[in-house]
Amino acid sequence: MDTPPPNPDFADRARAALLAHACGDRFGAPLEFVSDLSVRTRTVHLGNWTDDTHMSLYLGETLLAYGPITDQSPFEADRFGTLVGEAFVRWLHDPLTPTTAPGNTCLTGARHFERDRDWKTSGIRSSDGCGAVMRIVPIGLAWRGEALLEAARVSALVTHAHPNAPEAAMAGAWLVGQILETGVWGAACVEDAIRHLDGPWNQGGNLAGSLRAALVWAQRGEEWLDEPAIPPGDGGWRSGSALGLAVAAALRWPDDLGLAVEKAARIRGDSDSVACLTGALLGAALGTAAIPPAWLATLPRRAGIAGLADRLVAIRA
Ligand SMILES: [Mg+2]
Repeated sequence: MDTPPPNPDFADRARAALLAHACGDRFGAPLEFVSDLSVRTRTVHLGNWTDDTHMSLYLGETLLAYGPITDQSPFEADRFGTLVGEAFVRWLHDPLTPTTAPGNTCLTGARHFERDRDWKTSGIRSSDGCGAVMRIVPIGLAWRGEALLEAARVSALVTHAHPNAPEAAMAGAWLVGQILETGVWGAACVEDAIRHLDGPWNQGGNLAGSLRAALVWAQRGEEWLDEPAIPPGDGGWRSGSALGLAVAAALRWPDDLGLAVEKAARIRGDSDSVACLTGALLGAALGTAAIPPAWLATLPRRAGIAGLADRLVAIRA
């Protein structure tokens, strides 16, 4: 292996990325459809996590089925896209799915794949919904470099074909992987992602604009996320605003995972998707000790989620 071994707490932070993602999803779930400012003060009763975690588990198992990326087994978009499509068809028919507030675009994309078996045409062309980015954490754990970026791009296209969707998936997976490898989270990391989005990652969308706005907002020191300030300004229902708001929250409260996730969830828009991505970014930076113990203690399928993180890290070349 020509890459240095991961730093000592890599495995713990990888677990934390996936666990805090699920905890954020779960905390945001009862707030997802609260569209007025009462969302800031409502008591949250923790139940199960939602589609964000559920689809992440399916995508994680798909990465494991594909296996490690090596010279002998390089990334092949067609093979990976087909495996993701097949996994999303299984997700479509999972009895748990209807109870997890699944997104319409994800459901429709999976149905298209079931009908045509073509990941290049199954995604909804007009949609950059946040479903493309809320599920990408496992990619940042398992793969790196070009394979990570291509896997993120292809995984988004299976359901969402608007250019913002693959850009958000690429930037999100890269941020998680980068934080894991360096142990460092901050504006410099986001600035790097913006440079790439302005260059080779650009698919014709404007994810760079969402991340630039997140950087600006985080400097302002405000106490609540400003949903209209992060393009496209819809509060996280779309890929750019979901990742942008999560980046904003994680930059604003970088040392307090619980507070950042709560602030991310207490928005009028897509609370669980923004909160889960916030949790993933700060989990990757801070490790499992930063996750509020009360959230972890009752997390459904906690051992399975932690075990999936371990298995994903094990195939990282
Ligand atoms: Mg959800």
